[in-house]
Amino acid sequence: MFASVAASAGYGQLITPLLEDLGVFARLGEGGEGVSKEMYQFADKGGRDVALRPEVTASVCRAFAEHRPTTPWKVWYTGPNFRYEKPQRGRFRQFDQVGVEVLGVDDAQLDVEVIALADEFFRALGLQRIRLIVNSLGEPDDRARYVNALRDHFESSSAGLSTTSRETLQRNPLRVLDSKRAEDEAAIAAAPQIGEFHSPAAAEHFEAVQGGLRALEIDFEVEPKLVRGLDYYRRTIFEFQSDALDSAQNALGGGGRYDGLVEALGGPPTPGVGFALGLDRTLIACDEEGVFSSESERPDAFVVDVTGGLHATVITGELRAAGLVADRGFDNRSMKAQMKLANRSAAPSAVIVGEDEVAAGTVIVKPMDGGEQITIRRDELVAHLRARPTTT
Ligand code: AMP
Repeated sequence: MFASVAASAGYGQLITPLLEDLGVFARLGEGGEGVSKEMYQFADKGGRDVALRPEVTASVCRAFAEHRPTTPWKVWYTGPNFRYEKPQRGRFRQFDQVGVEVLGVDDAQLDVEVIALADEFFRALGLQRIRLIVNSLGEPDDRARYVNALRDHFESSSAGLSTTSRETLQRNPLRVLDSKRAEDEAAIAAAPQIGEFHSPAAAEHFEAVQGGLRALEIDFEVEPKLVRGLDYYRRTIFEFQSDALDSAQNALGGGGRYDGLVEALGGPPTPGVGFALGLDRTLIACDEEGVFSSESERPDAFVVDVTGGLHATVITGELRAAGLVADRGFDNRSMKAQMKLANRSAAPSAVIVGEDEVAAGTVIVKPMDGGEQITIRRDELVAHLRARPTTT
């Protein structure tokens, strides 16, 4: 599903290694925040410091710096990531993500394209209770001035901050805005907002992104407190949240525009934008919304072969080649046992082959809703099943 959404917009798949040099991810931890403190890292037999990847963006930038493809470089990826976190619902030590990254383009309309792809993916899955929130962190200078202003604000009101947030403040004032603790609420509500620090260019870029989203009729909310702590983000950042999940783990994914990362990994200065979506949480949201009906998994036909099983192999092969969904029984079980399986599969028809049918070049098609069974020629089976409504 994600592959077809990404391919429809001209993205090629990139497969990056699960194991990278530790240095590739070290940059993600500036300010002591982020995924670097949760990494599975170790020395290999050659004494090299390596890490299981905690995310993919840095690997994409490393690959770009190493291979220097022509820009714009539009890639998508899927695969597992590893973070040494406290496991809980929606938070695992191994989890899967899909994502895209585009390197070499500094255009607000690309931010719109990237956000629209994530939106289309959630829509294609059938999720309804999804919220898109966007913000702009401004240019690096805007962001630096904002961080100073936040530090001043929180230090002057630090008596009102929780102990945890006071510690966070020392490391990264932006992250204090993430706090959901009641003690921090008042200080956060009174904090300066990033919009006041946007340079004209940053404000224009953010306006253009919002204009693009409106033109595509993608609903969004501007959330000035959305920060996404990693130091390499600038300008556009966004997050998709599910209202079907508990608020502590309701982020299905997000991303934004970043710079400095390719350069830090040995490449030329290169603008980048992308997102990563967590599949585990997306699947939990799908369950909560009930978007996967069992209908989608039920076969068009269940083949019951009482001659040993080889004919079921051939018939299911023919049906699948014709684009039908076909399942079958194994282990040469009795007719009765196989019919039970056919019933459980919820297929509308059982296709039955015994010695007589093999000799005559026919099959029996038995409607599972109790209708009359008929015998037809093997070469008519595909057309017959196609003509039958698949739901009863
Ligand atoms: P991040 O790379 O931290 O921005 O994460 C992007 C998305 O990946 C999150 O919104 C989650 O959906 C998912 N994710 C991140 N960490 C985990 C984890 N430990 N377990 C499950 N999903 C995760």
